[in-house]
Amino acid sequence: MTNIIGNHVGGSRVSQTGGTLQDVFNPSTGEVSAQVRLSSSKELDDVVQVASEAAVAWGATPPAKRAQVMYRFKRLLEDNADKIASSISSEHGKTHDDALGEVARGMEAVEFSCGIPHLLKGTFSEQVATSIDVYSIPQSLGVVAGITPFNFPAMVPMWMFPNALACGNAFILKPSERDPSVTLILADLLKEAGLPDGVFSVVQGDKVVVDAILDNPEIKAVSFVGSTPVAEYIYTRGAANGKRVQALGGAKNHMIIMPDADMDQVVDALMGAGYGSAGERCMAISVPVPVGEKVADELMDRMVPLVEKLPVGPPSDPNAAMGPVITKQSLERITSLLQSGVDQGAKLMVDGRGLKVPRHEKGFFIGASLFDQVTPEMDIYKEEIFGPVLSTVRVADYEAAIKLIHNNQYANGVAIFTRDGDAARDFVNRIQVGMVGINVPIPVPVGYHSFGGWKKSLFGSHHIYGPDTIHFYTRLKAVTSRWPTGIKAGAQFNFPTMS
Ligand code: NAD
Repeated sequence: MTNIIGNHVGGSRVSQTGGTLQDVFNPSTGEVSAQVRLSSSKELDDVVQVASEAAVAWGATPPAKRAQVMYRFKRLLEDNADKIASSISSEHGKTHDDALGEVARGMEAVEFSCGIPHLLKGTFSEQVATSIDVYSIPQSLGVVAGITPFNFPAMVPMWMFPNALACGNAFILKPSERDPSVTLILADLLKEAGLPDGVFSVVQGDKVVVDAILDNPEIKAVSFVGSTPVAEYIYTRGAANGKRVQALGGAKNHMIIMPDADMDQVVDALMGAGYGSAGERCMAISVPVPVGEKVADELMDRMVPLVEKLPVGPPSDPNAAMGPVITKQSLERITSLLQSGVDQGAKLMVDGRGLKVPRHEKGFFIGASLFDQVTPEMDIYKEEIFGPVLSTVRVADYEAAIKLIHNNQYANGVAIFTRDGDAARDFVNRIQVGMVGINVPIPVPVGYHSFGGWKKSLFGSHHIYGPDTIHFYTRLKAVTSRWPTGIKAGAQFNFPTMS
């Protein structure tokens, strides 16, 4: 019998009957591994009710006690890292080591949340006028929600809920319907860590649940990570309903290769950042930008043999550098984008189409592909391919590289490889992109900095995880108090000033 993946509400997994079921695949075999039950808007509203009640006591719980739950959760994540990674790989398809890396990066946000009492101290100004003090205190919002993508089914939720919970909110998670199972493991571990029932819920579903989240007035803030068209929709509809929204979208990340760059380092960086996780990372490098023909020619000479023999296989293959892509539709989309590149005149140096992995012939595999001579008008440059494809755009000089990047609608991550400190510093200063790497291809900030792109890669004013998250998941209350009482100033009809 097919396993049905349901919700986690009120501290336990719920086995509802009825409703719509959607197939969940093992991308390595192409077979249905389970079905996810898509919740209705009424079910979402019922969960919000449970969360609203739980949020009252949780918000009043001392921050240090909330942090202790997160400490225990962190320990449980360490103890269960293999189990979590296996669940990720079975529905996402990424290699086991890559999935373990995802868990480790998610844990960074949990570690940060353990220190939240320090960040919730507020500020105090003594004696702003005679016997009058002013202090500002951050308080929890109540119920907040997160809507997450398929490509990091454990890490991206952990970019959101640890800090939201540690700030005293109840959290409702709507995971991707393509790899939903791992979130139920996280919910079980939160309960085991001592999180009170109802404070964290998982509601499986699609656009129906998303719209119910955006429209429910009890949900005060929504964090979203996913593609740009959906991010823009979430931001617009959520904000129109008076909610705080941070909506992180898609990307097209460039890597400038200066003539003085260390080419060994460049090639290693491009292989890992372009093809790791089959290119299904929002911070994947998708556009190498060699500066000058000599650099471009050398880059192609070095990359082609490596890309041709990049090992592809299921997570069970310890030699595989990357796994399959997420769905058959995604495979077809990537395949047709590759053809569009050829049709529009790019040079396909390595063609990954038609790859068959032995004993996994029905899996959603595609080999690594490499384009040269790509121009900005081509679809393979304009669209986020989200697959193992590098589209090389040659430029004449550094200024042309900057211009190219500035004309792109996305601005998530970017990298420059150079030995020239002047060029690197100028780049950091001028480039209009949210996250910048200097000789680092995937500059995802550590958990005590915040993550976010610019332009069409982020809608809203707050970045995710790290210090920015505290501002997103709390609201400030400013208190003006006079002690001792008994000072007789008489009635004042003018606007109060310090004099
Ligand atoms: P997606 O936008 O298709 O889905 C994300 C979430 O939105 C899912 O939970 C899905 O159920 C929901 N959703 C999908 N269509 C919807 C609609 N029409 N209305 C309302 N909700 C909808 O994204 P995906 O394919 O799961 O993930 C890949 C995308 O996510 C890529 O574009 C990638 O760049 C982006 N991403 C961005 C970041 C970042 O930090 N900027 C991180 C990871 C992934």
